[in-house]
Order: sequence, then C-alpha cells, then structure tokens
Amino acid sequence: PMGQGGEDADILLANPRGFCAGVDRAIEIVERALTLYGAPIYVRHEIVHNTFVVEGLRAKGAVFIEDLADVPQGATLIYSAHGVPKSVRRESQARGLRVFDATCPLVTKVHIEVLKLRKEGYEIIMIGHAGHPEVEGTMGQTEDGMILVETIEDVSRISVKDPAKLAYVSQTTLSVDETRDVIDALRARFPLIRAPKKDDICYATQNRQDAVKFMAPKVDVVIVVGSPTSSNSNRLRELAEKLGARAYMVDGAHEIQPQWLEGARRFGVTAGASAPEVLVKEVISTLKARGAGSVSQLDGVTEHIMFPLPKGLKLPGEQGA
Ligand code: SF4
Repeated sequence: PMGQGGEDADILLANPRGFCAGVDRAIEIVERALTLYGAPIYVRHEIVHNTFVVEGLRAKGAVFIEDLADVPQGATLIYSAHGVPKSVRRESQARGLRVFDATCPLVTKVHIEVLKLRKEGYEIIMIGHAGHPEVEGTMGQTEDGMILVETIEDVSRISVKDPAKLAYVSQTTLSVDETRDVIDALRARFPLIRAPKKDDICYATQNRQDAVKFMAPKVDVVIVVGSPTSSNSNRLRELAEKLGARAYMVDGAHEIQPQWLEGARRFGVTAGASAPEVLVKEVISTLKARGAGSVSQLDGVTEHIMFPLPKGLKLPGEQGA
C-alpha cells in the first residue's frame, strides 16, 4: 500500500523535511544573480551547507570563497544564508563590491536583537556551536560583550559582568531539547537573565525535529539526507539515534552502506533544511533496490512561510517588487 499517513509501509517519510524558506531564498538569490549579472558570481562561504547544491551552483558559475581578498574589485558578492559579521560588510564596501545578502531573515532577526540588547547595555550569552558561520556572524554584530556557550558545563564556567544586565540569544539550528537544558542552566545560575521574546531556534528546525520524533519510534533505521557541515541535519540524526533508531546521515544515496540496512524491516527517511528533495528520491530508490516495498509519507504540519527576495534581483518581465 502507498499513501498519506499509512504507517504499515516499509519506508516512512518524515514530514516536513528538506528545504526551508531561508534555503529556498538563498539559492534563488544566487541563481538570479547568475542570470542577471552573469558568471562569475562570488559567494562568501557555501550558500547553504549542502554539497549537491553547492556543486550545482559552481557548475553554473558561482565561485565560493571564504576570504574577501579573493574577490576582484567591483565584482558581485553574495553573503550565505548563515549571515556575516559586521566586519565583512565593511570590507565589501571598502572593496566596492556589489552585494546581495542571502542571510536568512530569521538569522537577521537575531542580529537585530543583539544590536538592540547591546545598545541597552546588556551583556549577551550566545548558545551555539563554536566555529559555525552563523555563530561567527551573530557574534560579529558587536565588537564585544558577547560570550559563547555550547553546553551546560560552559554555563558553569563563564563569568559575567553584571547578572542583572544579562540576556541570551541562540543559533537557529540547534537541538530544541538540548537548548532547553542549557537555558534552564542559565536561568538557574542567572535568575535575572533576559530571554528573547520568541525562541531563536527557527520554525524549520523545530518542525523537522518534531517530525523525526514522530517517525523514529516507528522504524528500525533512519537515513537523514544532509551534508556533514549542516548543523540542523546533524541534530536530526542525533535525535533519531536518541529515540532508539539506527541513524545515519548521508550526502546522497551513494553513501548508504549495505550493512546499515541488515536485519531492518522499516526505514525512516528525512532531510535537513538545506538538502534537496531529489536526493531523498534517490535514497528511496536505493532502499527499494535493497528490498523495501511501499513508501508512505507521515502526517505533519504544513509550512507556509516564504521570504521576499532582496531588491535588484527582479527578472525581466517579472511583476511585483
Ligand atoms: Fe532560516 Fe531556519 Fe532555514 Fe536557517 S534553517 S535558513 S534559520 S529558516
């Protein structure tokens, strides 16, 4: 049997999975810039953390760089969905680059919050993963006054200037459950700490984790489509494992090892927010070739969020702003 919500199938698909509105928009920005301005279009950092997407855009003429010194004067540069520190904006301006900003609006929202809190004299604790570009971008909104914590242990180690003038923000793609534990530890140690009005973990991260929570207990093996650099994809794999499934993350179907599937009867498939659906389809085909029969999509929430494109990327003949 094949159908929506039917749970007697061999392959269950998490819902929602894959592309979020911020990733959709970021890829569209690069494609439109290529159409309107021609190759090469420079992109600071991988536009989104997915190998297939990056290779596809590279083939069309996108050039991915980490250091602005590698961008010629006057060229077109796109900032990745993860956002950039203020220093990168200053450097782009100094080099006379034409910039399109693909920072996800939900990351920009955190940047704005950081600036507002600093103006009001708050010291800010950021919950996030050291070295992730989103963390570098958010921490880089201000010269000083921010402290990064990753774990509960970090919370017990930090020292702050004034516990009465303290706030926290977070990376958008963290584990919802682990972040709650870190926030509890912050509250226990700094009872006056100010929380964001709305959680910084984004809707897409939340929904994909909820979908894995629903799916993982029903299957033996979970395959997460996502690249090793993708924070939200890694969280999905960890979550599925915590819930008792054998869980693996793959950049594509070619990475599936036959021994992963041994003895398993039911398979769950999901994809991180930067992983395209075409890769999910290939994983389904591979599982079918290895003996899985029917496929069923689980029930889940429908996402309606869409973000407008930045100005200056309207295609010829296109209506609207
Ligand atoms: Fe934006 Fe969330 Fe998607 Fe990141 S995962 S691009 S914050 S919607």
